[in-house]
Amino acid sequence: MIVEQDVSLKAYNTFGIDATAKKLYRVQTIEDVQEILPVLQNGALVLGGGSNVLLSSDVDVVVINEITGKHIIAQDERNITIEFGAGEVWHNCVEWAVLHNYGGIENMALIPGTIGAAPIQNIGAYGVEVESCVVSVLYIDITSGEVKELDAASCKFGYRDSIFKHELKHRVFITSVKLKLSKQPIVSTTYKDVEQELLKSGIIHPTIHDVFTAVVQIRSRKLPNPKQLGNAGSFFKNPVISIEHFEELVGKYPAIPSYNAGDGFKKVPAAWLIEQAGFKGKQVGNTGTHVTQPLVLVNYGNANGREILALASEIQSVVYRTFAIQLEMEVNIIQ
Ligand SMILES: Cc1cc2nc3c(=O)[nH]c(=O)nc-3n(C[C@H](O)[C@H](O)[C@H](O)COP(=O)(O)OP(=O)(O)OC[C@H]3O[C@@H](n4cnc5c(N)ncnc54)[C@H](O)[C@@H]3O)c2cc1C
Repeated sequence: MIVEQDVSLKAYNTFGIDATAKKLYRVQTIEDVQEILPVLQNGALVLGGGSNVLLSSDVDVVVINEITGKHIIAQDERNITIEFGAGEVWHNCVEWAVLHNYGGIENMALIPGTIGAAPIQNIGAYGVEVESCVVSVLYIDITSGEVKELDAASCKFGYRDSIFKHELKHRVFITSVKLKLSKQPIVSTTYKDVEQELLKSGIIHPTIHDVFTAVVQIRSRKLPNPKQLGNAGSFFKNPVISIEHFEELVGKYPAIPSYNAGDGFKKVPAAWLIEQAGFKGKQVGNTGTHVTQPLVLVNYGNANGREILALASEIQSVVYRTFAIQLEMEVNIIQ
């Protein structure tokens, strides 16, 4: 375990916010986590890659999860179950799986962050969410210090949601995740962007490697690279509204896009709402929304967390006044 004092967190969050931690622990084993249990019980901030947080102030104690490792748990001719250390970089695991022709997570290539954080917000992209592969999540119960395993059904996965954002919030340190991948993968290319990217390359019968490459190409083109422009991906969730509310909006805004979201509900792209509210590419001091993807709030260099939070609140107010839709933040605000 590595322990440091008075550390800048700029390199530990993709927004590039220069907050400070009085103490920072980097844990590499389950024993390390158990050793600092009192620190976790006192409310230390647990971080993986820092790609889904906004640090709005300095932090007393931060614990960085660096528990690595990959172990095959079970396999037959069709599937393989692998336990990944929670500190493994998500994209590296996707790349490794694709290299071995284990299918299931290739559509989620290039999502920043760690394996351990993936089930927390049930990461997803291009028509696939991690819940489709999760067998279980292993964690240390911060209250008791016990090692526990939660199966997928008990994780209560939803759209960018799970039990780890509610009942188990601040109560667990995730140490590993078991994923079941397919040895006879069926590719998922129903998402329009992926389909078009493959067609552009003349690929009619894509492999998981083709899908992986297409997703990497699309994402590299569309999303700002946090190493060049600080950001945390989509700042808000796409809101789900009732059909009645949607129909009222169609009357006023006939071009409003939507997706079905189950019986009686529609999902509306938050990016469209933000653009209509006049925020696309808008810069306010050191922060703003991205020029081509207004759902992504960016740090133009020296923004602090409070400035970004102020812009996010302003966007929420204008969108609410215009559409009577309350945008929910996808990024975790660290106060
Ligand atoms: C450019 C960009 C693109 C993105 N695209 C997508 C996308 O397409 N789809 C998507 O779903 N997300 C996307 N994201 C969001 C982000 O990548 C995911 O949410 C990712 O899973 C966060 O992982 P992390 O390790 O960085 O988590 P962190 O930001 O470090 O932590 C996130 C939360 O989880 C908690 N946490 C982290 N690790 C642990 C642990 N081991 N135990 C307990 N709690 C823990 C933290 O306390 C915090 O509350 C994007 C982000 C960026 C910057």
